[in-house]
Amino acid sequence: MFGRSFKLFNLFGFEVSIDLSWLIIAVLVSWSLAAGLFPYLYHGLTPQTYWVMGIVGAVGLFLSVIFHEFCHSVVARRLGLPMKGITLFIFGGVAEMGDEPPSAKVEFLMAIAGPLSSFGLAAIFYLIYGQGKAAGWPLPVYGVIRYLSYINVLLAVFNLLPAFPLDGGRVLRSILWGAWNDLRRATRVSAMIGSGFGVLLIVMGVLQFIGGEFIAGLWWFLIGMFIRGAAQMSYQQVLMRNALQGEPVRRFMNPHPITAPASITVEHLVEDYIYKYHFKMFPVLDDDKLVGFITTRQVKEVPREQWSQVTIGEVASSGSHENTISPGVDAVAALALMHKTGNSRLLVVEGNHLVGILTLKDLMKFLSLKVELEQE
Ligand SMILES: [Zn+2]
Repeated sequence: MFGRSFKLFNLFGFEVSIDLSWLIIAVLVSWSLAAGLFPYLYHGLTPQTYWVMGIVGAVGLFLSVIFHEFCHSVVARRLGLPMKGITLFIFGGVAEMGDEPPSAKVEFLMAIAGPLSSFGLAAIFYLIYGQGKAAGWPLPVYGVIRYLSYINVLLAVFNLLPAFPLDGGRVLRSILWGAWNDLRRATRVSAMIGSGFGVLLIVMGVLQFIGGEFIAGLWWFLIGMFIRGAAQMSYQQVLMRNALQGEPVRRFMNPHPITAPASITVEHLVEDYIYKYHFKMFPVLDDDKLVGFITTRQVKEVPREQWSQVTIGEVASSGSHENTISPGVDAVAALALMHKTGNSRLLVVEGNHLVGILTLKDLMKFLSLKVELEQE
């Protein structure tokens, strides 16, 4: 459900992406409005009008969610927290943080900004609705505006539920964090409440479904699944961050990686390195100096009949920010780089010299040991 997102546009330097799940939601919302809510509230319009209202309502909801997330991001940036962008997920959005908030106070302000902005937007829509109705605007126009006013109240209230990682859960976590001065414990308790809340919604959804309330049941079920999954994921992220924070890359790297000399042929590399060690990437050295790296993909691009003539020094790529890291960097940053680029092996480089290689596998082994040993 998560992960397949594509970029929509840039808003004051924030990249706005949409998760594929949102398209399903857009159809569900339009349909719920056009076939359910609008005919129920406003009588005597044509089906086409209800559908146009439904689609406009769904787009309005979408923009309201972007506005909500945007306000989180603006406050975060003001408080000095780098924000990567905004991704719209199944219900609501997620403003992507580079790091955990530095303090309980920052997290509190960031979290509360979203619901407050939704309440503000609701008030604005309500004023426009009142003016429009008094001025004699057509029913479908002020009807949709009234809906947008209500949906923003709903958005604010829903996000204020004390279920981490919803905004209300973040507010709760920041209060617990401030009181206990222990981020991990505060996260664990908030995530447990969030997860329990998700289960409750799922059960309610199933009960409603059995009772014949199919659409409402489906909504409760989906939202419950979302909250439960997000709560568990956030707690795991905090655990990972806690375990790796302050640990330099040097601690996890293999200081004696298998390297290949630049002078050998591609054929030699395939026979004596790739088939022997089963790695997809090898650092390439000229004497002691790092030339770059060679991957199985680059090998495949060399025509087979040239394998015995071409040296790997000729086809190796030089290292880039995508796959090199220095030994003193925090391991959290290394993990983030792997996550971002999809490279599970990083060259650890100091100046022109290769000092080691860092693999995702080694990081994960360390993490699972640490979690196993320190779990309460
Ligand atoms: Zn929010």
